[in-house]
Amino acid sequence: MLNREIETIERSELEKLQLTRFRFTLSQAFKTEFYKKRFSRIGLSSPEDIQQLSDIKKIPFTTKDDLREGYPEGFLAVHKDEVVRLHASSGTTGMPTVVHHTKRDLDNWTRLCTRSLIATGATKSDTFQNMMTYGLFTGGLGLHYGAEALGMLVIPAGAGNTKRQIQLMRDFKTTVVHATPSYLLHMADEVAKEGITPPKLGLKKAMIGAEPHSENIRKKLEDIFKIDAYNSYGMSEMNGPGVAFECIAKDGMHLWEDAYYMEIINPESCENLGEDCEGELVLTTLEREATPLIRYRTRDLTSVIAGLCSCGRTSRRIRRIKGRSDDMLIINGVNLFPSQIEAILMKHPEVGTNYLIQIEKKSSLDKITVKTEIYPKLFSGEITDLDRVKKVIHDEIKSACLVNASIEFHEPGSLPVSQGKAVRVSDLRKEE
Ligand code: ADP
Ligand code: ZN
Repeated sequence: MLNREIETIERSELEKLQLTRFRFTLSQAFKTEFYKKRFSRIGLSSPEDIQQLSDIKKIPFTTKDDLREGYPEGFLAVHKDEVVRLHASSGTTGMPTVVHHTKRDLDNWTRLCTRSLIATGATKSDTFQNMMTYGLFTGGLGLHYGAEALGMLVIPAGAGNTKRQIQLMRDFKTTVVHATPSYLLHMADEVAKEGITPPKLGLKKAMIGAEPHSENIRKKLEDIFKIDAYNSYGMSEMNGPGVAFECIAKDGMHLWEDAYYMEIINPESCENLGEDCEGELVLTTLEREATPLIRYRTRDLTSVIAGLCSCGRTSRRIRRIKGRSDDMLIINGVNLFPSQIEAILMKHPEVGTNYLIQIEKKSSLDKITVKTEIYPKLFSGEITDLDRVKKVIHDEIKSACLVNASIEFHEPGSLPVSQGKAVRVSDLRKEE
């Protein structure tokens, strides 16, 4: 562990620390244009008005729209001279949001990233190839500095250019990679095209994140490359990667509670939910100077795992993110998350590394088509064999998700690949 004392802190001590740090966040928030207005509206006049952690419920949520409204500096709590960097979200769901950082903010973020990497068993002897996009997107620089601080040899490869990635891996004997799971799957096909069997690359671990993925995607990656893959969760509003990370136990992601206060709410009624109840994750920064955020609605759906992890770290764990509340598709009145379909597809060894869910309107009904790449080698070549697998997938989707999907099989490499976060849904209804 990077810091045993803090990583194995007792719950009661942690809560004391969180209260002190939350008061600090409030004192910073009082310096921002946005929260000043908001606090005066609810009659909060000083951080001392908050006596205990549960008083946090007196403060309204902060939403992505609030952040957009506060663009560019409405959430800035320090003098501009203190700001050393800014980052922005990818803009998956609209205008990107901006977060400013002081030197100390960056140091704290780096510490969380180093801690996360150590939790997966990575050491300074590893060579770390970072295949995430560098720049405003936080995926690149966050783990980059975390890995450097750990003493790893860092290859700042950035995203894309798969041939070069493979070359770097071979020449410098990369042991740990950081990428989106969809990119790594795409890479597996490219490696095979070069005539190399993926395990020959000698990779040991992959840090995979930035987009929702199922347990079956993890298994597929682990199986193809013969590696251990660890789920990495974060978002630019909470620094970036290093918010929650899997440890070697691979049983949920430790959400670093000394740096973030977490709540799970029912996204409709907004009431707080207990452990093991699925809802929307709400986070409050506890250490950030430049951009304090209070009760930020992440829109990500998960639940808190009750009980302690076998690794000894006491920060509670969250389950794999099911998707964003706004990822939910409504197909002829039935609610569906793309992750449910993915979990079914990836169970089948015949299914390849990329898929796309397409929805369109046909005579006032929603029609859903699941297009998936396949490994032709695994089929006998008989049409009946293809049809059999299609039917199995169709029936499994029908029974688990209650929708009647048409299944289409495509050649490996024929569906569009994205350099950053994978685009898994093409909803043509919106364009009509
Ligand atoms: P944007 O919100 O514009 O995509 P970010 O780059 O900050 O911008 O992305 C953060 C979001 O990415 C998270 O809120 C979450 O929806 C998704 N995400 C990040 N890591 C994971 C992960 N390990 N599993 C599932 N979703 C993830
Ligand atoms: Zn653990």
